[in-house]
Amino acid sequence: MATTYEELSKEELLEIKSELEAEFEKVKAQGLKLDMSRGKPSTEQLNLSMGMMDVLNSDSDLVCEEGVDCRNYGVLDGIREAKQLLADMMEVPKENIVIFGNSSLNIMYDTIARSMTHGVMGSTPWCKLDKVKFLCPVPGYDRHFSITEYFGIEMINVPMTPTGPDMDIVEKLVSSDPAIKGIWCVPKYSNPQGITYSDETVHRFAKLNPAAEDFRIFWDNAYGIHHLYEDKQDYLIEILMECKKEGHPDMVYKFSSTSKISFPGSGIAAIAASTENLKAIREQMKIQTIGHDKVNQLRHARYFKDIHGMVQHMKKHADIMRPKFDAVLETLEREIGGLGIGSWLAPRGGYFISFDALPGCAKKIVAKAKEAGLVMTDAGATFPYGKDPQDSNIRIAPSYPTTEELKVATEIFVLSVKLVSIEKILASK
Ligand code: PMP
Repeated sequence: MATTYEELSKEELLEIKSELEAEFEKVKAQGLKLDMSRGKPSTEQLNLSMGMMDVLNSDSDLVCEEGVDCRNYGVLDGIREAKQLLADMMEVPKENIVIFGNSSLNIMYDTIARSMTHGVMGSTPWCKLDKVKFLCPVPGYDRHFSITEYFGIEMINVPMTPTGPDMDIVEKLVSSDPAIKGIWCVPKYSNPQGITYSDETVHRFAKLNPAAEDFRIFWDNAYGIHHLYEDKQDYLIEILMECKKEGHPDMVYKFSSTSKISFPGSGIAAIAASTENLKAIREQMKIQTIGHDKVNQLRHARYFKDIHGMVQHMKKHADIMRPKFDAVLETLEREIGGLGIGSWLAPRGGYFISFDALPGCAKKIVAKAKEAGLVMTDAGATFPYGKDPQDSNIRIAPSYPTTEELKVATEIFVLSVKLVSIEKILASK
């Protein structure tokens, strides 16, 4: 067992500090420019899907299974072959799917916007209510929180546990407060911790008895098939069926997209929900558009062929992502494992590693790393309103840099963690 920094004397800490400072100055002098801030696929990953550019050309038959020419108007909620592909990816019947454009975040925004202006399946529009609240498992995805903040929805933090959100708190709040209209969830390989909700958590979600009739679970399964390992994968119970079994078929909206399967800039995205929910969604959709990009839907369906094609494709992504995750985790373990200055989980999939520093250190660590040319996600971003009450959580996104760049970036990160932590510990000695 390594000695923790807390156990060292003031003199020992000062000595380590001066060594680390010298090291830090050396790195800083290199004038590096590194970025571990956003969960973007690397160019190498984008190149995996370039075959998609060849499945359609000027000689292609662009008529979809419905017999409609994909170049023209028609087929409001997605062509049959693309629905089948995404239904299999989202583990629901294709009758429960509506395809939108390229972004699932856009569907989530639309879903909240529609609830604000027109209500949920006939209930009072949220904008007419004095107060609308959302539960936000933390740490979580900053862009979810931005949507609810934008609409003036009050966000309530719910702590994450290794099996998902703290369900005792979720049950208590949802069943007692009719102003709570929703909860943001990333149930598999969560952003940022990489946690997958346990069977018990999913069962408890499906059994919720909300005080509000228009309460919905916003189940953003962005990383459903984004495993890192073939032999170590997480499993998630399918929530739509589970809610139906429990007599709450309308309580959940599921979202997903191919952003991190094909192209984030031009994938396809879908919502999955009950027949009644989808009926209400289509009412709005038919006013909003005459139809989304069917040529792109056709391109995806013909390229992947079926879910097996997609699963095979994801193995190629995993082969690129795995060494990057390994590089970050290996450096964290080697450099700060056992020092008592931070904790993290080793996820089996998804796009992120979440790091918890000593309380009050996250902002300083991110600022320190920036001094040496490393851009991290802003500290606080993983919490509603950008406010981490502990100032502790930092999201690490290993996908975009090369493995070599990542190694250097993680070295800068751990140096920053050590320096900031030593200062904090020294201040209390
Ligand atoms: N949900 C989560 C949890 C994400 O991490 C991301 C991408 N970072 C998105 C949604 C965005 O999805 P899309 O590209 O489909 O809008």
